[in-house]
Amino acid sequence: MGTKVMIPLCSDFSEKRDKICIFGTGDFGRSLGYKFLQSGYSVIFGSRNPGESSLLPRAAEVLSHTEAAQKCSVIIVAVHREHYGFLKELGDVLQGKILVDVSNNLKINQYPDSNAEYLAQVVPMASVVKALNTVSAWALQSGNLDASRQVFVCSDDNKAKQQIMDMVRAMGLTPQDKGSLVAAKEIEDYPLQLFPMWRLPVSTCAGLTVLVFLYCVIGDIIYNAVKDKDVSYYLMVTIANRIFPVVSLMLLALCYLPGVFAAIIQLYRGTKYSRFPDWLDRWMLCRKQLGLVALSYAFLHAIYTLVIPIRYSVRHRTEMFIINQIKQNTTRAFEKPLAWRSDTYLALGILGFFFYIVLGITSLPSVSNAVNWREFRFVQSKLGYLTLVLCTGHAMVFGWNRFLLLERYKWYMPPVYMLALVIPCIVLILKLMLVIPCIDTKITKIRQGWERSSGKTSETKLKTCSVAL
Ligand code: NAP
Repeated sequence: MGTKVMIPLCSDFSEKRDKICIFGTGDFGRSLGYKFLQSGYSVIFGSRNPGESSLLPRAAEVLSHTEAAQKCSVIIVAVHREHYGFLKELGDVLQGKILVDVSNNLKINQYPDSNAEYLAQVVPMASVVKALNTVSAWALQSGNLDASRQVFVCSDDNKAKQQIMDMVRAMGLTPQDKGSLVAAKEIEDYPLQLFPMWRLPVSTCAGLTVLVFLYCVIGDIIYNAVKDKDVSYYLMVTIANRIFPVVSLMLLALCYLPGVFAAIIQLYRGTKYSRFPDWLDRWMLCRKQLGLVALSYAFLHAIYTLVIPIRYSVRHRTEMFIINQIKQNTTRAFEKPLAWRSDTYLALGILGFFFYIVLGITSLPSVSNAVNWREFRFVQSKLGYLTLVLCTGHAMVFGWNRFLLLERYKWYMPPVYMLALVIPCIVLILKLMLVIPCIDTKITKIRQGWERSSGKTSETKLKTCSVAL
């Protein structure tokens, strides 16, 4: 660890930019130091222990806090909030300087105010800018900044904010202006969030998985056990391959149900300018994640289906069937309707799965950024509904006339594929009603700004509001 790290500095030292002071020689301060040097800045560290440190870049100076602050107009405070007290003692040295608060907390709402606002209170004579807290020391050092290239910046001092945004650009990062220092709390919450958009889809998926699992265990394993037939081995493949398609289809339908609800609400209210209920807003915002979870279950269903012919129980059943035919000297006649049914079932499944994948791929940022809004809507809405129709058809053909057979209702429980069809059928029926020309025209008018109360299109609202369904 004692060896010095050589920094590939910008080739032309004559173009060297301003001096930057970094308070704190810890992990983040050090990483920022290396990055600033690479970007052509001079770096001066302000530390409680000035002097040489083998971990710090050789090209940087390490001085006391006061000496370092005197030499620079921009100071990065790479110190935890709990230690901001030492800044009070620096007094006049910080007058008129730009202090960049890069700090994060351990949990959301740890303090009533944001760290940046607290810093502004501790050093009222300086301009405080919040920035760089969403970038990690590891990403800065490894150069692996693809996922965190965006840097949120906010401050009450516009000039200082612009200066820091230029500095961020010079580092090869993308600044995003978040306005005044009030936004600091929101910016400080970003790194603490744990997959916020995935929580609802994953918990919905987990809940449905448990329910369908219990339903299958009762209807297959326990029902057969009561009748002295042990089929507990169903747990590994048979039941899993019931859960995946059933939950996948339910989740796919749940992606389209909120859009249908939203259209009904707009029709009922006769305007698009009143807010949807919070639960609907949250539901609509996580449709992409819901769709991706549904796609992962569809993948599992495809894989589990492919292994069916190599399962021991299936091979045994097939062998016994053939042996019995030989013993009884009978041959099962070729049934054309069965062949049609089986091929239709497979074709609908394959096509549904193909469009499912197309939907998943187009929801990836790199792909969705490359298509315009109309193309994106076409894929997600038109192809999405086509996928839902194909997958619903796949489940219906699978069930065929089984819903008419009483022996399929074990303990009066309908077969699980029937449960899978409930939400998709509701969505498709409601959607069919919404595309009836007289209803569709009304929704289109509402979405273009028409309001029932005024009876005409509100031009001003049209310009300022847009609600995407
Ligand atoms: P760290 O490794 O613990 O370093 C903090 C530095 O603060 C120390 O090296 C020390 O520098 C200084 N310090 C400690 N106690 C002090 C005191 N009582 N008075 C004055 N200075 C004191 O922490 P870090 O990981 O570098 O994080 C620094 C800040 O950056 C934190 O606010 C953190 O939330 C933020 N941040 C970190 C990361 C990351 O990936 N690590 C990412 C984004 C934001 P001297 O010994 O030189 O005085």
